[in-house]
Amino acid sequence: MSCLFCRIVAGEIPSKQVYADEHAIAFLDINPWHVGHTLVVPRRHVDDLLGEPEALTEIAPAISATARLLVDRLAADGLNLLSSSGDAAGQEVFHLHVHLVPRFAHRPGLRELFVHEKDVDLDRVHRQIVGGAPAPGTVSRS
Ligand code: 5GP
Ligand code: ZN
Repeated sequence: MSCLFCRIVAGEIPSKQVYADEHAIAFLDINPWHVGHTLVVPRRHVDDLLGEPEALTEIAPAISATARLLVDRLAADGLNLLSSSGDAAGQEVFHLHVHLVPRFAHRPGLRELFVHEKDVDLDRVHRQIVGGAPAPGTVSRS
């Protein structure tokens, strides 16, 4: 078994596990962005969300329970959730995982996690995504 997270799920590689259920386990990230940074992974091997979107539904209860646990036990003021799919998105371990990052009022703001893109044309991007069609959910009044 060569997948790192499959080996962690199997207990072949130690991890600091904080939650487990039938479908998923959660353990502390070895190189945390903030205190309490945790990864939630499905027990079965799934490369990423793009390959198997339904896997997110499977691990959703574990994501919610772990988020609650982290916020309660670490007295966090907020939490970020992120999952990277593909090399271009920065994915490094190709076994689906959701990052849960507890956040604290004394270190607020996404700027601590992400670099913002400048000069993005929102109109163009919106057209690219929805085409000429009315935006989903728009009520036609004609
Ligand atoms: P990605 O960049 O693929 O979204 O995230 C992979 C994450 O896995 C990184 O944040 C990295 O620190 C974490 N990671 C890599 N190897 C290990 C490991 O052996 N144990 C644990 N607990 N986390 C790991
Ligand atoms: Zn795996």
